[in-house]
Parts: sequence; structure tokens; C-alpha cells
Amino acid sequence: MLQAGIAIPLSLAFTLIPLQRRGMKDFSQLIEGYHRFRAGDWQQQHDRWEELSKGQSPKVMVISCSDSRVDPSQIFDVSPGEIFVVRNVAALVPPFETAAGQHGVSAALEFAVQFLGVVEVVVMGHGACGGCKAALTQDLHGNELGEGGFVANWIGMLDHVREPIAASQGTSGADAEKAMEYAAVQLSLDNLRTFPCVQVKEGSGALRLHGCHFSIEDGKLYILDESSGDFDPAN
Ligand SMILES: [Zn+2]
Repeated sequence: MLQAGIAIPLSLAFTLIPLQRRGMKDFSQLIEGYHRFRAGDWQQQHDRWEELSKGQSPKVMVISCSDSRVDPSQIFDVSPGEIFVVRNVAALVPPFETAAGQHGVSAALEFAVQFLGVVEVVVMGHGACGGCKAALTQDLHGNELGEGGFVANWIGMLDHVREPIAASQGTSGADAEKAMEYAAVQLSLDNLRTFPCVQVKEGSGALRLHGCHFSIEDGKLYILDESSGDFDPAN
């Protein structure tokens, strides 16, 4: 747990408020939900679950933020087995790296593209993203590991795309934050294209990449047009 006294951006600190104060569910209540699932969807779609027990063959991989408000399955209204999902702070894809280490996103991407054979990869950023906000303010930069340092290292991936935004729009305010969120989506798409398997498959037309941004404020999804850099409402 993060300890008191550590500099935490307000956006992140908000997520650390004790459960009771916000009426959120604890694990015992999640188990109640599990029993509802067993009595409901599990029974009603038993044939589907039986089929899924033999394997998965999703066509789409979605990379989303870990933020509790932006569940891709809910936003895209899909059923189990339909999307292969990776979630992390700010929905980021690191570049292809061969250095030693545990590369979680790279492993998931490799599995989805090379073994499952997904035909589309979607990077979904979102509004009010605490990770992107922290990247913009750099409030956590310099913190020790375990005290914000892991987050700082992770979102440090955005440092170079942050610079022009900070220079032109500052490091606070809705416009700068949205610009940071949009830039993060494009950076992740750029990093996806540093993976040889993505290069080959996108080049042959076997794989398509998409960027999008979900606005929590109005519940709308905006799709990135990479040729213009604009995010347009999904039709
Ligand atoms: Zn986020």
C-alpha cells in the first residue's frame, strides 16, 4: 500500500479512498456477484461456456487502462471469449525490447498475434486518466519504487510525447490532459509497430491497428484517424 505522506496526484489519490467511503464493493460482495453469475449467465449460456472450455479464438485484442471505470467488455458490449484484453496503467504498449526482464504486454501481444491470430489490435485510452495526468504533471517522478516509482517509470514512456504538450498547453487543465491521453494512444500504436510480428502482419493486411478514446464524461467513444491525428465520434 502507498503510505501517507507520499506525493500522489489527486487523480490517483482519489482511487485510494477507503472502500466504505465511496460505497464500493468488497470481496465478500463480489462473491455474492459470483453466485448471481453462477445462477444466471452460467446457466443461461451453458452451451457457450461449454464451447469456451475447449479454447478461445477472439478476433480482436484490446489494450486498455486498468482504471476501474473503463472495462472494454462493457464498453464494447461483448461476451466472454470475444476480446483478448490487456490492461495496465494508461493503456500503454512499450516498444519491442530484447533486454532481459518480464515483458508482460509483449508476452500478451505475442500470444494474441502469433498464437491466437487476432486480426485487429485496439488501443483504448480514456478521459480522466490518472496515469496520463501523472505523466503530464510528472508529480511521481523521482519517487522510490513502491512509493510511486513504479508508476513513474512506467508512464515515463510518455515523457517525450509530453514535452510539446507541456510546452504549448501547460501541465494542467482539461485540454492538456486530453492531449496527453490522445498522444498516449498514438504512442502505443507507434510502439506496436516496433514489433516485428506486427510489422509483418500489418504490412500484409493480416492485422489492423486502431486507436480510440473513451470519454467517461459523456460515455462516448472517439476513434483515431491516424492520417489526421483527429479523434472522431464512433459511428
Ligand atoms: Zn487510465
